[in-house]
Amino acid sequence: MARYSELSVDELSALRESLQAEYEEIKSCGLKLDMSRGKPSAAQLDLSMDLLNCLTEEDIKSVSPDVRNYGLLEGLPGMRKLFADMLGLKPEEIFVGGNSSLNLMYDTLAKGMLFGYYNSEKPWSQCGKIKFLCPVPGYDRHFGVTETLGIEMLTVPMTSTGPDMDIVEELVNNDASIKGIWCVPMYSNPDGITYSDETVRRFANLKPAAKDFRIFWDNAYCVHHVSDQHDELLNLMDECRKAGTEDSVFMFASTSKVTFSGAGVAAFGCSENNMKHLVKLISMQTIGFDKVNQLRHLKYFKDLDGVKAHMEKHCALMKPKFETVLRHLDEEIAPLGIAEWKRPNGGYFISLNVLSGCAKQVVSLCKEAGVVLTPAGATFPYGVDPLDRNIRIAPSFPTAEELEMATKVLCLSVKLASAEQLLAQKKTAG
Ligand code: PMP
Repeated sequence: MARYSELSVDELSALRESLQAEYEEIKSCGLKLDMSRGKPSAAQLDLSMDLLNCLTEEDIKSVSPDVRNYGLLEGLPGMRKLFADMLGLKPEEIFVGGNSSLNLMYDTLAKGMLFGYYNSEKPWSQCGKIKFLCPVPGYDRHFGVTETLGIEMLTVPMTSTGPDMDIVEELVNNDASIKGIWCVPMYSNPDGITYSDETVRRFANLKPAAKDFRIFWDNAYCVHHVSDQHDELLNLMDECRKAGTEDSVFMFASTSKVTFSGAGVAAFGCSENNMKHLVKLISMQTIGFDKVNQLRHLKYFKDLDGVKAHMEKHCALMKPKFETVLRHLDEEIAPLGIAEWKRPNGGYFISLNVLSGCAKQVVSLCKEAGVVLTPAGATFPYGVDPLDRNIRIAPSFPTAEELEMATKVLCLSVKLASAEQLLAQKKTAG
């Protein structure tokens, strides 16, 4: 197999024709596969069915104060401890919310806009134009929250060690309109990159021009390994304590991809100053979250070791799926020199960079052949990937057979789009 860039116009022409024929054949199979979102498969959800039966009447009645009643706004002490262990914080630095960490992130950012934080001079909505840094490629829903709340987004490129910290420092330390940054520090969405120790230390040692700058540290994938090799993330809060910057961090996590995506438990973590300020505001929104679900999760897992043991079962289901996608890419695409990708040790995605200008076409070819991918551009603010080359692959949801088929369609679409693009380029150049 020759690299596509080395082929002549005639060779590319012939190649495109044969790929097109192959594509028409696969299209006629009438596939209907969805790889658009990072959803757990039915088999993964089945892993947690005992969660529904693990709580007895006795369990419920043995807890004081009564979990069925109002109270304990910050969450059950045992659940605060579990999330504290997960995020490397103290239990009193944890607030356990409802079922969704995205909801907590939205709500926390909205509070910044409406009220400001404990060390803000005024609400962010009264500060004129304010901006957030968005490492790219990144999580589309972070960008959606930011855009919805009227905050301008500035992109920062991801490197193999996390966001480009030279750029982050330059911007954050000199521009007071930059109020925050989104981070998925472990097994990032979509690259699967874990921030290096140096990156974490540089985050802790930022000297923001905006005194109420906040790092939104979304540790959604902190226990989600898909390989025997586990990444390690340095504890940001420990580093912040050393630097005296612990008020600059909000951390988030959930059991959405541990138990049930729609019915898990989410939490945020922050310094005592931030906690006091936020709890006062939250106490005006609700008298308390679902403590029965918290108790159910606590009984089911007992502690962080229980969560880790459970995540090994997820890993057993996820690892072969990641391997399927990587095997197809290695065998079918790598020799052709038309795309690049990473091999993450965890998380939910494989981030594929095709030739510039091809991502939208690849996604649309896949769709026409019955395979729905995350829209091209979704991994960038405002849905615009300036190079039109990043595609987020989510291997979790399809069954093994479906994934084989979907990945074949994907590889074929990458080949067809690349051949077309190179042919057009060569024709214009020649
Ligand atoms: N953060 C990241 C990085 C995600 O990929 C997702 C999607 N699973 C979420 C947050 C959403 O989490 P939750 O279900 O807790 O709202």
